[in-house]
Amino acid sequence: MTETTFADFGLAENILKAVIESGYTIPTPIQREAIPHILMGGDVTGVAQTGTGKTAAFVLPMIQRLSTGRARARMPRCLILCPTRELAAQVAENFEKYGKYLKLTMALLIGGVSFKDQETLLQRGVDVLIATPGRLMDQFDRGKLLMMGVETLIIDEADRMLDMGFIPDIEKICTKLPANRQTLLFSATFPADIQRLAKTFQRDPKKIEVTRPAQTAETISQFVVKLPTNDGKARRTALRRVIEATNVKNGIVFCNRKVEVDIVAASLTKHGHDAAPIHGDLPQSVRSETLQRFRDGKLKLLVASDVAARGLDIPDVGHVFNFGPPPKDEDYVHRIGRTGRAGRTGESYTVVTPADEKSWGFVLKMIKKDVPEFMPEGLLEELETLPPEEKRDRKGGRDRDRGERGGRSSARGRNSERSDRAKRSPRRREPEDGDVAVAEAPVAIEAVEAPEAAEVPVQEKPRRERPARNEKRRERSDEQPRGEKRERDRDRPQRDYKRKDDDLILEPAPDRVVGFGKDIPAFLKR
Ligand code: AMP
Repeated sequence: MTETTFADFGLAENILKAVIESGYTIPTPIQREAIPHILMGGDVTGVAQTGTGKTAAFVLPMIQRLSTGRARARMPRCLILCPTRELAAQVAENFEKYGKYLKLTMALLIGGVSFKDQETLLQRGVDVLIATPGRLMDQFDRGKLLMMGVETLIIDEADRMLDMGFIPDIEKICTKLPANRQTLLFSATFPADIQRLAKTFQRDPKKIEVTRPAQTAETISQFVVKLPTNDGKARRTALRRVIEATNVKNGIVFCNRKVEVDIVAASLTKHGHDAAPIHGDLPQSVRSETLQRFRDGKLKLLVASDVAARGLDIPDVGHVFNFGPPPKDEDYVHRIGRTGRAGRTGESYTVVTPADEKSWGFVLKMIKKDVPEFMPEGLLEELETLPPEEKRDRKGGRDRDRGERGGRSSARGRNSERSDRAKRSPRRREPEDGDVAVAEAPVAIEAVEAPEAAEVPVQEKPRRERPARNEKRRERSDEQPRGEKRERDRDRPQRDYKRKDDDLILEPAPDRVVGFGKDIPAFLKR
């Protein structure tokens, strides 16, 4: 049987030329299934992770369909919704790559990209609008955009949209679009809420599933590094020793919280490793620059949060290190899926402490595989000699055994209200991406970091998102009502941290007033 080629799809010559220049000759499975169906105008539900070639699977037929017809002022013909700025920028790159011999126009509505320029483009008329839901609704509400010209709606990384609380926005956007449009939905996993979304807004979609969500690629060798202690310093030491013991060309270190990303990146750098952090509280320019350095091979270790790294197409990553198992077990598959792409081999290492056993158990149950243990030589002995971190920074009498997740920051620990809020919302939206309010309000960083920095339960059930909770989260998040939230956050104390002796310890800097400081209001004294 002869293999399908891109030419077999009947793609236009000037698209095929761009595909060939990209170096692709054989369509990936999702491309093989999706392209003919999309070309015919059908809806597609693609259950596929990044790395499967899913972006080209929708961009190629989309540009072919758009190559006939013309854009009208303020009325984009194709709308692509992405959960994060980076993912949106990546789709835009793909659009430019495959559409370079076509005369199609594009606008990008994401945080960190000049609004003015995009507005001018929109005003003139664009074929494709790539946006994060928050920014899109912003522009729509301001009357800068008309959606009745949209012929194709593409929702990328729908499950991440769900995690970030964007589903109500997407539902709202769908109601503004013409009913006879084509709708393509891509998602790495297919939970009930996404199934409902597909059912409501797609017409007889072709479901294409390229890998089962709980599958990990066979090309990835997975290892677990089991530590006898929950101590944060021990965890960082273990991470370093694992990195040093493995032949790392480049790798991504995943952390569960943004604050952890900073600490781990700084700790690695301090100990002579070439590492840089990437998370949503960093300015867009820094994130883009870091990512570019990593892509260009000029940065060895990218320390990332799940949201920041999700969907990023970083080819040829050799190693993935999990500073701890992810709170959501399916994120494990996404994380380690950064390596071992396109048939290449890769390695993943997950540091697991006694406090992580439960969440690691969930991961093992999901991947239905046994993961062998790995222990760098001399690590256990070294850990025994380490002074426990909690002894030094424990101020509020917290339980030592809570280790990294619980006993880190006294500022954090004291704020029980924040902590409670975090516990109630295990799947908090990391309000970092596509969120104008966060990107543009400097004080909002503290506000969004606070719940993130509080305790993250190792694993909480029920784990499925319900619309009511979703709404609640939106109220708490910076998404909406933006004005109110930002006003409130301005009054919050800015948290700050300082370095301490041989490693990084979280502590409120002395010049910062935490809580009310000395000025306790009279009503509280009563
Ligand atoms: P994606 O799943 O869209 O994130 O794509 C993952 C990577 O696969 C990207 O670097 C693409 O450039 C690459 N890619 C897409 N299609 C093909 C193909 N047919 N053959 C080889 N690589 C591809």
